[in-house]
Amino acid sequence: MKYKVPTGSLIEKVGWVKFLSLDSEYAVKIIGQISKYPRFVGTRHEEEARNFLVNEFKSLGLEPRLEGFTVKTYSIIEERLEVLEPPWGEIECRALGFSGSTPPSGVEGKLAYIENADKALLPGNKGWIGLAAARPTREAWKRLAKQASGLIISENNPSRPPSMVSVPYEWLEEAGDLPAVYVKYDDALRLLEASRVRLTVRQEYKEITAYNIVAEVKGTKYPEEIILVVAHYDSVRNVHGAIDNAGGVGFLMALAKKFSSSACKRTIRFVLAGAEELGLRGSLAYVEAHKDELENIKLVVNLDVHGQPIGTNAAIVTGDNKIANYLETLSKIMGVNLNVREDVMSSDSTSFARAGVPAVSFYRSGGSAHFMHTYLDNDKYVSPQAFALLGAITLRFIEEVADAEEFPFPRGIPDNIKKKIKEYFEKRGFGIKNYKNKVA
Ligand SMILES: [Zn+2]
Repeated sequence: MKYKVPTGSLIEKVGWVKFLSLDSEYAVKIIGQISKYPRFVGTRHEEEARNFLVNEFKSLGLEPRLEGFTVKTYSIIEERLEVLEPPWGEIECRALGFSGSTPPSGVEGKLAYIENADKALLPGNKGWIGLAAARPTREAWKRLAKQASGLIISENNPSRPPSMVSVPYEWLEEAGDLPAVYVKYDDALRLLEASRVRLTVRQEYKEITAYNIVAEVKGTKYPEEIILVVAHYDSVRNVHGAIDNAGGVGFLMALAKKFSSSACKRTIRFVLAGAEELGLRGSLAYVEAHKDELENIKLVVNLDVHGQPIGTNAAIVTGDNKIANYLETLSKIMGVNLNVREDVMSSDSTSFARAGVPAVSFYRSGGSAHFMHTYLDNDKYVSPQAFALLGAITLRFIEEVADAEEFPFPRGIPDNIKKKIKEYFEKRGFGIKNYKNKVA
C-alpha cells in the first residue's frame, strides 16, 4: 500500500485548522487527481488533466474556455551513457530536451571535467565530452556546442535523481546540437575516475497546439478591472509534478471554488497555463493574445510550487514595493510568516510583469520542492495543512484588492525589477523574438 502523509489525527492542530478559510481538502483532491500521471505538453495524460480541469470549473458553475497556442516540443527516443574506459558499462542518465541528437550509434570521446564551463578547463581540441557541475548558461552553451561532442551534467545535490528537463528550443536553433544528459551526483563522482565514454541521445521535435484554460468570476462593481490568478498545469516529461505544479493548480481551484460562490467588486480571472516548463509558453501566448486588454489587468497572482505540509511560505513581488510592504503588513496582522521579497520568479508571473502588469508569486519552500523536475515529485508529500496559512493570507490578499473601492497599488514596474526581467529573458533566450518592449 502506498504511504500517504497523514492529515494529522493525533497532533494538536488547532493552530492551523482555524485558518482553513479555503477548502484545502478540495485542493488536495485536485492535486491527487491530476498528478496521477505526468502532464507533459502534448501527451494524452496532459489532455486528460485539461479535460478534468475544464469539467471541474464547470462543476463550480463557471464557463471555462480553451485558448490554443502553438508550441515546439520534443520526445526522447534514446538516452544512454556508457563508460568505455574503464569498461563499467551503462550509467543512468536523462537527456535534455532540445539539446540535440547524436548519430544512432552515439558519440565516443574523452571525458573532460569542465565545472561551470570554466574557460580554463575547456580542452583546446574538439570532440571531447564534457562533465559539468551545473547546466551551462546560454552563452557557454553556444561555445560548448562548437567544441564538445556531448555534455554530461551532474545534479548538484546527492539526493536528487537526474532532472528531466529541457533547454529552450531557441538554444538548439542558435547553437546547433550539443546532445546533453543529466546524471546523479554520485554517478558524476564516479565519472571523475573514467576517461572515455559513449553518449547516445536521440530525440524528435514537433510543433503542436497547447492550451491555456481560462475561467472567470465577473466583478459586481468594477467588472472591467481584473485580478488574474495563474497556475501552470503542465509538468516536465515523465514527472508527476505534484508540487510543481499540481499544487498550484489545486490552490487555484480552491480559490475558484471560493470566489464562484462570492463574487468581488473586481473580476477575478483564473488562468491555468500550459507549456510553462518549456519556457513560459502559455503565459507568453496569453499576454500576446490579450495585449489590448492588459491595461485592465490590475494584478497577477501566480501560484507555482505548493502542497508540502511541512514547509515555509514566501511571496515574490514583481512590481511596486508598495505591494511588498502591504503583504508584509498583512502577514504581521495575521501572524503568518511570509518571506516577502522583490524579485523575478522563474515562472508565469514574469511574462505578465514584462508587459507591465505587476505580479505576486506565492510559493512554498521545503519538502519535496527539493525534488522538483525529478520523478520523486509525486503526491506522497501533499496534505491540506499546506494550504492553511498560505491559503488564508493569499485569499485575504486577493479579497482585499479585488474588493477595494480604489485599487491600492501603483501600476509601474520599478527600474531595478525591469532590469531583472530583461536579464531573465536574455539569459534564457526565449520570448525575445518578435517582442516589442512595452515596459521600456
Ligand atoms: Zn512550476
